[in-house]
Amino acid sequence: MKIYLDGKLVDEADAKVSVFDHGLLYGDGVFEGIRLYGGNIFRLEEHLERLEYSAKAILLPIPLSRAELSKATCETCRANGLTDAYIRLVVTRGVGDLGLAPWLCPKPSLFIIASKISLYPKEYYENGLAIVTVPTRRIGPAALPATIKSLNYLNNILAKIEAKQFGALEAIMLNDQGYVAECTADNVFIVHKGEILTPGASQGALKGITRSTIIDIAHELNIPLRETDMTRYDIWCADECFLSGTGAEVIPVVKLDGREIGAGKPGPVTQRVLASFRKRVLIEGTRI
Ligand code: PMP
Repeated sequence: MKIYLDGKLVDEADAKVSVFDHGLLYGDGVFEGIRLYGGNIFRLEEHLERLEYSAKAILLPIPLSRAELSKATCETCRANGLTDAYIRLVVTRGVGDLGLAPWLCPKPSLFIIASKISLYPKEYYENGLAIVTVPTRRIGPAALPATIKSLNYLNNILAKIEAKQFGALEAIMLNDQGYVAECTADNVFIVHKGEILTPGASQGALKGITRSTIIDIAHELNIPLRETDMTRYDIWCADECFLSGTGAEVIPVVKLDGREIGAGKPGPVTQRVLASFRKRVLIEGTRI
């Protein structure tokens, strides 16, 4: 496998970063997870824009321009002969000393991995996921805005571990006020009385690229969609629930904490959104 690392495509065995890299020492860096479908990178510009905003928010200069980033991402896919892949684009603060100070890291590091992804098994798309609410809360915006896709995922990792301990693959994370924020790696949606509802970024949701695709799909399908504050009550009483993410795509949820949601099977709105999403990924995108 070829990895793009600081301007060069190198063999996987040579793709090494220093133990003094602050991405490793402190989680000081930002990243994107992107999909390649049939030779087209899905919503590349939106991912690069989010990466730029994440980097700007932590005052991290990205060593490449938007056009150069786009070219490097396409090149990495081509170099590996891939037509369907998961792309991981990472910018770290780079090498510094053992102190926190980012200003002592003269050069950010940038690497791109294009590889296979392990997806949820097909049956979950047909029958839906059973998820749980976990005790670990989403970090509040005053500590670290959820809109920054940073290398600090420990909060989500703790939630993921708790989900596994409760026998679930995904988990609802509440914010400090008890409102639904998002899942460990997915945004959350419910359908209630014909409307699609999702928590806003101010409640601790990442502005997911799949989420923004769903907003477009809802518009196209003439299904009303709005951002709203949401508690577990809203999920308990919802007609349908589904999650969205680059890896998960659109996946139905049929149970929360052992309670059935709606009819206890993937609902019609979820199925329409999922079908429309699957069509879009094949026609939209940047040719590599
Ligand atoms: N929330 C979190 C915490 C995430 O890490 C992700 C990305 N996997 C998402 C939501 C979904 O975002 P996207 O649709 O851009 O992948």
